[in-house]
Amino acid sequence: MLIIDGKKVSLDLKNELKASVDSYRAQTGKVPGLTVIIVGEDPASQVYVRNKAKTCKEIGMISTVIEMPADTTEEHLLKTIHELNNDLTVHGILVQQPLPKQIDEFAVTLAIDPSKDVDGFHPENLGRLVMGHLDKCFVSCTPYGILELLGRYNIATKGKHCVVVGRSNIVGKPMANLMLQKLKETNCTVTICHSATPNIAEFTKQADILIAAIGKAKFITADMVKPGAVVIDVGINRIEDSSTKSGYRLVGDVDYEGVSAVASAMTPVPGGVGPMTIAMLLKNTLQSFQRTNGL
Ligand code: NDP
Repeated sequence: MLIIDGKKVSLDLKNELKASVDSYRAQTGKVPGLTVIIVGEDPASQVYVRNKAKTCKEIGMISTVIEMPADTTEEHLLKTIHELNNDLTVHGILVQQPLPKQIDEFAVTLAIDPSKDVDGFHPENLGRLVMGHLDKCFVSCTPYGILELLGRYNIATKGKHCVVVGRSNIVGKPMANLMLQKLKETNCTVTICHSATPNIAEFTKQADILIAAIGKAKFITADMVKPGAVVIDVGINRIEDSSTKSGYRLVGDVDYEGVSAVASAMTPVPGGVGPMTIAMLLKNTLQSFQRTNGL
């Protein structure tokens, strides 16, 4: 079975991005800038934001983190976003979710200028993705990372049946719509399953490419997978494990041990889809910089 190594691909990609940033710096004296806003002190969000900032600096981009207290008003957050929308040195704006309950997440998504929405969450970007205008939008980072993996591993997709389990706005829906597009890495017949799908195994067993974005540890078992299928595991779930120092470990939505005996190719967790997400965020930020500067 082929292990689709997201850790390696993300490192290659980061090296490529760094080379582009270095070359643009030499050419124009400017570099891309990403600003991340974090509201409150959610520990998982703090780790994500720290990692994004670190990776951003590693490849030579300007990284700014704006930390706001948990009682920040929606009005104040929106005002800050508006200022960043007008700041020519900022090419990407990201507001880390989840947000405290007094702030409407959708209002925040709408406030970000679509041309700086490097998360690809704004309806204008999602709409352009659905309509196939991929060169004029930002694709949500996790589905975009999966596209990159399928492309770099030359996974045959044209005319294949892709089953996506999960329909969230940030993973399942953009993923399924991407797989439907007429691209080299996609061009599939697509089925989307969710929590109201009865007999889900009947659908997953038909998948040539199975993408699991559910949020339930080891949900997809070997008996749900067609022999030879390509399996992409988006899930990141903590399960208790007394043998580790932390007392837990991370597993995907797919039962790796069982499914790896059936699948032809598969992403591991950790080290599969996860590392690609940050890399694609930086790729989107670079794209924003290129568009702004006509490069
Ligand atoms: P959401 O909770 O927003 O969506 C989960 C989806 O799975 C929903 O559409 C839900 O259906 C569906 N679902 C839940 N239970 C079942 C079930 N029993 N049978 C079938 N479908 C079910 O999660 P996200 O999309 O944000 O994330 C999914 C997973 O991916 C999580 O583990 C998350 O941590 C991980 N993730 C990983 C990233 C990475 O970089 N690797 C990035 C983002 C997420 P319904 O709509 O009916 O409720």
